[in-house]
Amino acid sequence: MWCPQGTAHGEALSKVSRQSIETRHTIVQYESLKDIKRFDSKIDYSPGEGGFKSLFSGTKYPIDSIKKKVDAVFERAQEILDMRGRVKKVVINIYPKKHFYEIRNRLAGKKSRIRSWYIFENNTIYINAHDIHEGILAHEIAHAIVNHYMTVRPPSATAEILARYVDKHLYF
Ligand SMILES: [Zn+2]
Repeated sequence: MWCPQGTAHGEALSKVSRQSIETRHTIVQYESLKDIKRFDSKIDYSPGEGGFKSLFSGTKYPIDSIKKKVDAVFERAQEILDMRGRVKKVVINIYPKKHFYEIRNRLAGKKSRIRSWYIFENNTIYINAHDIHEGILAHEIAHAIVNHYMTVRPPSATAEILARYVDKHLYF
């Protein structure tokens, strides 16, 4: 996955007002509850379990569900990396696909096929609500943890290896 080190920031393209949910480790920002429901249905992960459909999925309370799942993935990533120090809350920006593609085109060009990314400068993960799973989420969260846990930011190739290690080992 593409993890830009550059200065381009991808926010504030649309006038749609965004809402946010604060979790223990993150701030999830979104446009509509529909996107939160979609995101929730695609993240198959819950605290203390792995590999089977979460008890929270399909819940009437997608916000509660998302809070639990996002923090569970975050804590699992910390555990895998063995980097448990306190880090600044990472922002997770969830977009409906149209807006996601608009931002991606602007930041990475129209040929880009990247599915998600993390920008260090604003400590923000960018996610397409229509194309996400727990592995992608864990991968981007790992980037945030690695970059903020280490006093000196690791080279991007090293950070990428660590992030891939996390998304591959989410369940075991
Ligand atoms: Zn990556």
